[in-house]
Amino acid sequence: MLQKCIDLDHPVKELQVSVQNYLNTIQNLPRGTNFDINNCDVKFGGFIGQKRTTVKKNTRDLIEEFHIAFLDLSQPDRDRFILIFNQTNDVQTQFANPNTALRLLDYPIGIRKQTKALFLHLYKDTLGKYDIKDHYKKVFKEKKDTWCPFCGMEKFVSFKRFKQDYDHLLYKAKYPVASVNMHNLAPMGIKCNRIHKKTDDLLMDDDGNIRSAVNPYYNIISPIFDLKGSTMSSDPSKRVWQVNITPNSSEVLTWDSVFDITDRCKEEFLEKLDNSKQETECDKLINEFRKDSMNRIAFEKDSKIYVQWNLDRLEGEIRLKRNSFNTNYYHEYNFIKHALFDFLLTDECLNYRNAVLKMITI
Ligand SMILES: [Zn+2]
Repeated sequence: MLQKCIDLDHPVKELQVSVQNYLNTIQNLPRGTNFDINNCDVKFGGFIGQKRTTVKKNTRDLIEEFHIAFLDLSQPDRDRFILIFNQTNDVQTQFANPNTALRLLDYPIGIRKQTKALFLHLYKDTLGKYDIKDHYKKVFKEKKDTWCPFCGMEKFVSFKRFKQDYDHLLYKAKYPVASVNMHNLAPMGIKCNRIHKKTDDLLMDDDGNIRSAVNPYYNIISPIFDLKGSTMSSDPSKRVWQVNITPNSSEVLTWDSVFDITDRCKEEFLEKLDNSKQETECDKLINEFRKDSMNRIAFEKDSKIYVQWNLDRLEGEIRLKRNSFNTNYYHEYNFIKHALFDFLLTDECLNYRNAVLKMITI
């Protein structure tokens, strides 16, 4: 969302086309017609296999069950299912019109269970055979940096060690027909995928309200952070943090809510956990700034160019430090680092600035 996802031509996209062709082939078949491997193209058919020999259902079992259930539907229900399939897989239109998005409970009742079972299996089992690992390798190489495009607070792992999680933008259990659509799958940081977004529906909140979200293959958001309204203290446990994100648009609110951005800024950067011995990232950064300033003063004294630092001079240095985080604002927590140094310049932090000045000029 903070960066666009990279859309590559890759054989992994063929599975989606094969499934679509299969559905078109069976749309008008007479009821009771058996599944025939020739309903599928050669490559897809090659991965479907034979009847099961083990307890666990394989692709063949699941597609046969789907096939029977689909042909048992009335013609209008079959047509409606194909329409839902086509509409859902036009992912960008779903993002543009979240009120028209159709979820599993909107599918014809006789095909819901079989659809979910088949498509989740195709994602888990078959997509790998179309070499999604190679897709990640190519995305990783194409990407100009390794920062997670959804949070800017974690990095992607090299393809040499790991295939990054691919998140279903339209979550697979709710929108199963888009499970193997690569325009619905985006490489995402592990924290974002496994701890924060998890099973969230980008287009509907937990209370069932429709909401807007940005499709990272098409758009980005450019939120700005500040800490106005926070309370500063030299004792980290006495600080009260207020993280503000603008603009206050519904896309930004959805992003903050799904990826827990405000909470992560507090938990991972600003706040000290009760009674913990850990130094906050925020204090580490301020201490670094303090040490750099002391080194600067020592250098100025050595070079005989030293003029006593006053509050103006300190504020100038804080401003310079703040501006340095404008470069790559959405990498390395820079947005919250920028907000911190901006906050240090406010009236709320005057006493704190005086304390820092005293510390570095003794
Ligand atoms: Zn992330």
